Amino acid sequence: MAHKLAISKIEDVTHDVRQFTFEKPEGFEFTPGQAAEVGIDRDGWRDAGNPFTFTALPGWDELQFTIKIYPEHDGLTEQIGTLKVGDSFIVGEPWGTIEYKGKGTFIAGGAGVTPFIAILRDEFDAMPGLETIHVLSEEDKSGFEHGLVDKAMLERLVGNTAQHFYVCGPDPMIESVNDALKQLGADPHALVFEQ
Ligand SMILES: Cc1cc2nc3c(=O)[nH]c(=O)nc-3n(C[C@H](O)[C@H](O)[C@H](O)COP(=O)(O)OP(=O)(O)OC[C@H]3O[C@@H](n4cnc5c(N)ncnc54)[C@H](O)[C@@H]3O)c2cc1C
Repeated sequence: MAHKLAISKIEDVTHDVRQFTFEKPEGFEFTPGQAAEVGIDRDGWRDAGNPFTFTALPGWDELQFTIKIYPEHDGLTEQIGTLKVGDSFIVGEPWGTIEYKGKGTFIAGGAGVTPFIAILRDEFDAMPGLETIHVLSEEDKSGFEHGLVDKAMLERLVGNTAQHFYVCGPDPMIESVNDALKQLGADPHALVFEQ
């Protein structure tokens, strides 16, 4: 069943990433890491069906999406970028295979960080040793890793592969990171990613 949800709040996270908040419909349930297919209440875009991940926690009274806007794509997110408070999203039922299975390493590319926002919010207290490493693929800036997340970088930064790995991002990145982790000895069953 699809829900028509009016936007109650819009916040800029970066110059092209925006957070949209909605009141949660009665009985709506999801687990951290799940997504839903989304359209907007505008002619031609109600059945768009692009997946976005819930970035609020299940216990909150609100639902939230964190969305990267691509004005140059002439697609759904260009339309979403023009929405105002009071406009509505059409939100389908939650689905997805990314869920927290235990301590491990989270590897996110771009908007692929969204499933981990809800998971880390939920489990943050259980992870006092959480360490964050930012990798810039283009810029070479002091204090940041530079390049693509490849086998050599994973070996250097992660080392121990006897743990869970949560991988989310563009499909080619998921494929190459998973391959590299397996080559480094990670158990394929310990790799958590959207299939
Ligand atoms: C499970 C899952 C969860 C996701 N969660 C989130 C999330 O929480 N937040 C988030 O921001 N994204 C998320 N995404 C990604 C999101 O669904 C799409 O990336 C986003 O909808 C693309 O928006 P668009 O405006 O390009 O729309 P689309 O309507 O998909 O694309 C419109 C047009 O853009 C063009 N286009 C597409 N890609 C490119 C490109 N690389 N270069 C040039 N033109 C291009 C094509 O012509 C396409 O027809 C998720 C994806 C999945 C699979």
